[in-house]
Amino acid sequence: MLRIKCPFCGYRNESEFSCGGEAHIARPSAAVSDKLTDSTFSEYLFMRENPKGVFLERWCHTSGCRRWFNVARDTVTHQIYEIYPAGKTPKTTIGKKAYQVNWRRKSKAEVASKYLKRTPK
Ligand SMILES: [Zn+2]
Repeated sequence: MLRIKCPFCGYRNESEFSCGGEAHIARPSAAVSDKLTDSTFSEYLFMRENPKGVFLERWCHTSGCRRWFNVARDTVTHQIYEIYPAGKTPKTTIGKKAYQVNWRRKSKAEVASKYLKRTPK
């Protein structure tokens, strides 16, 4: 079992937490959402990366303080490299690298542009 350090409560067993999946997903703006097809929007809503290696995830201390935070974790070894606040970006070198390789971590304008390009005319 993993021991995870909640930034607010300290170390606790993994069973007290829930993983909310991929962190830092940029949401399409409201203006763009109206123009997306159901297929494109469902891709944004449901499709998630599941890489082998260091990955940035959202975790919640569900049986504790119920607060959200982000974790840079290796999905193979389960080693945790960094725990950092929700709404912030990773500070470690390995966390920064994981942040930069994902196409979802773009500005809202870039994301809007990408989603609109995928929408069939
Ligand atoms: Zn906590």
